[in-house]
Amino acid sequence: MAELTHSSASPPVAEATKWSVADAEQLYNIDRWSAGFFGLSDDGDVVVRGTDAVPPVVIKSVVEQVKRQGMSLPVLIRFQDIIAGRVRQLNESFAAAIDEFGYQNVYRGVYPIKVNQLHEVVDEILDAGKEFDMGIEVGSKTELVAGIAHLEDDDTLLLSNGYKDDTMIDMLLAAQKLGKNVLPIIEKYDEFTRILARSNDLGIKPAFGVRIRVKQSGSGRWAESGGDRSKFGISLPRLLDMLAELEERGLTDAFRLLHFHLGSQISDIQALRKAVREMCQIYAALRRKGVPVEFIDVGGGLGVDYDGTLGATEDGINYSMQEYANAIVESARTQCDREGVPHPVLVSESGRALTAHHSVLVVEVLGTNRKDFLEDLDIDIASRIADGHDVIRNMHGIYEWMRDIEQPKPSQLLEALHDALAKRDEVEQLFGFGYLSLEDRALGERLYWSICRAINNHIERDRPDWLPDELDQLDDHLADLYMCDFSVFQSALDHWAIGQRFPVVPLSGLDVQPNQRAVLVDLTCDSDGKVKSYVTSEADDSYLLLHNTEQHNPYYLGFFLMGAYQDIMGDAHNLFGRPNEVHVYADPDEPDGFYIEKSIPGTSVSVMLEFVQYFAEDLRRRMEKIVRAKVRDGVIKKREGVDLLESYGRFFSSSTYLE
Ligand SMILES: *Cc1c(COP(=O)(O)O)cnc(C)c1O
Repeated sequence: MAELTHSSASPPVAEATKWSVADAEQLYNIDRWSAGFFGLSDDGDVVVRGTDAVPPVVIKSVVEQVKRQGMSLPVLIRFQDIIAGRVRQLNESFAAAIDEFGYQNVYRGVYPIKVNQLHEVVDEILDAGKEFDMGIEVGSKTELVAGIAHLEDDDTLLLSNGYKDDTMIDMLLAAQKLGKNVLPIIEKYDEFTRILARSNDLGIKPAFGVRIRVKQSGSGRWAESGGDRSKFGISLPRLLDMLAELEERGLTDAFRLLHFHLGSQISDIQALRKAVREMCQIYAALRRKGVPVEFIDVGGGLGVDYDGTLGATEDGINYSMQEYANAIVESARTQCDREGVPHPVLVSESGRALTAHHSVLVVEVLGTNRKDFLEDLDIDIASRIADGHDVIRNMHGIYEWMRDIEQPKPSQLLEALHDALAKRDEVEQLFGFGYLSLEDRALGERLYWSICRAINNHIERDRPDWLPDELDQLDDHLADLYMCDFSVFQSALDHWAIGQRFPVVPLSGLDVQPNQRAVLVDLTCDSDGKVKSYVTSEADDSYLLLHNTEQHNPYYLGFFLMGAYQDIMGDAHNLFGRPNEVHVYADPDEPDGFYIEKSIPGTSVSVMLEFVQYFAEDLRRRMEKIVRAKVRDGVIKKREGVDLLESYGRFFSSSTYLE
């Protein structure tokens, strides 16, 4: 139909540049980061594809159903099918690698609970992982308590990392006695001593793994947790002490597993290959000494390509899941064959890669703070400028200068910007003293933004090698602010803390070209409450191209790849709690192709207040006292007082976000 609206005189180039959903996929890099789970429908809606077996689910429909059920946004949607999909992908990748390289042993994945502790997530992983013998990894006492109760099957592997006190050691030893496949991983030498002591006291034959401090570090943002400087792991001299002690006690067969962890989000696959080789050398030496080590555990670190650039930025990784598996299996096979030792069981503790994709945070844009430009004005400004105040005429002069000048020097651009800033100040002062009408002041505002944009157009056209900061930041200055009902700190902690980028995509309307430059801000009053960089194919990642929300209303944005580390780190910042949450399964028998299995209300105001020691009961009593005094003094009527207290009371059970 769109073609019919073109007049016959319209230039053919209009056809060639017509916007399509494929352009939208490219703009937001969707193909590159979605691992095949997200895409666009022909109508421009973002869809989820859990498996090939079920048709894609339109995320906007889930949001609409959530709203019909009376829940408010923001909402965290968990697509449970994606978790199962990732578990399968990981295990199949290793199976393929084992097959390809003729590896003579198996792969056993364990899921590190800390990455997303939510019970449903852990259950889903164990469920989907059953056919692959997936196990779990715990790193604290609380996680041990949660994890150990999930070892229905004796074979399910449970690894316990992190520092362990005697109560934890006793619990782990007791589980071993029950016949469970449980291994404490020794991080510090004194843990080794205590495990021997406790098992001796309890009369249990111990089994354990040892975390080795490898030379190799993981590179990238998270690398500190591996390498020489790592606070975790046993050094090689201490390892030899350990062996001597075990030999003396006749317990060498307690030593079952070698573990290392380079840190999360390994950005360079070569680092991993080197670490695996290093570990296999140690393994071979142990085997030759008669220590029957059975497992090599390569830790976590399987990364997620958050921006889909295959390692071109700090948020990406330079390998696929299959390459990761190939690198481990091939390095282990080559090194073990060279050393003439049997191939060990390979274990990985992949958390981020299993969970990141499954959850999407949906927020609504509540309003925008758009910049006003001269061209948006219908009235004849020529006459207003001619009749107007000098300052307005001056500004218009600067505007025309910047509009018409060709190839200006950065110094000229800077001068124009400074002049515009000075004139804008002058406009405000003159208005303050009553010398300027409201209309002229508004015109001054438009002129200011139009000058800024004219300057910015030159920068974009000429792309100078070097720019003074003020000019460099113009882009940001010109972007529209899109206010969203969420908290960056609460919901995208790693963006707030370390600048990790997450893909953000409008959930619908992508058959129409988005052309507002937007910067997302949250409702906290922090200067940090802002999304500072975006996943986009635009050269400048300080803004995101979005639609005009007056024409696209309501406007929902999805924050993707939020399932690892982000969505469980609830905190009391600004007393925003956890957002509401729903768990979605795809189902072709349902009208929209999905059903919501579970909705979890977000944190209520009263729960949030209790974190900081305000209690509903006490607050209600205080409020009652205030209201009663006002009723007594005749400031309000009794009925009004009762209504007010009722409304106040309702706050406690309401969501911390806007209703
Ligand atoms: C955090 C952690 C993991 C998980 O790492 P991912 O990169 O999320 O897979 C695995 N093992 C240990 C010891 C960890 O501390």
